[in-house]
Amino acid sequence: MPYNNIIVLLIFCIILFLIIKNFSNVLKFLTDITDTRKKVYYKLHDSNLDPNFTKITRGIIKNSKWAKLYNLVDAVNSATSPTSPTSPTPLVNIYLKSELEMKPYHDNKQYHSDGSQIKFSITYKKDGADPVILINYGNWKNGVKQSKLSVMDYRTYVINHELGHALGMDHLTCEESTAINGVCPVMYQSTRGCNKFKCGINPSVNDYNAPKLNW
Ligand SMILES: [Zn+2]
Repeated sequence: MPYNNIIVLLIFCIILFLIIKNFSNVLKFLTDITDTRKKVYYKLHDSNLDPNFTKITRGIIKNSKWAKLYNLVDAVNSATSPTSPTSPTPLVNIYLKSELEMKPYHDNKQYHSDGSQIKFSITYKKDGADPVILINYGNWKNGVKQSKLSVMDYRTYVINHELGHALGMDHLTCEESTAINGVCPVMYQSTRGCNKFKCGINPSVNDYNAPKLNW
């Protein structure tokens, strides 16, 4: 075999060895460059109210169907540090707050038909800053009976709903035209109760096409 061919074969073998050795990195690189989803960072803040808040919420977000449209990256585990508020890559801050802490955001009280107050969680965005999600601890702890969801399903709903706002989605109604197989969109306010429908806990195609908020 000519000398040149041996060199070429050697280089080929070295390259092949490096590719196999770094197979997972190569795969990650290929998935990254072919991923057309918008990257969104989220940061979970610890809470004394429930020490498991971040762990549970991380699990919900990992299984969230918003992942079909968005690449949701945990800011804590991300190698790339989150960017500034004006960056096209937003950082969604998620907190668990007591009902007392939520009070300033609940000026207009609304009531269920049984007379009990509707207690919402909220998402806001101020002066072009990144979105902030405040989860109402009372609902987080006990669920909301009007939704007819288990506590864990209510938590899944409320995280996906508020995350939807942070991603720019506005509310949807729940009626024949928006429910799919009798299940309300996650961008419907299920804390109000879902009447004859079942409350949804994960986004559906109707949520992907929900009207956009002005932010
Ligand atoms: Zn909402």
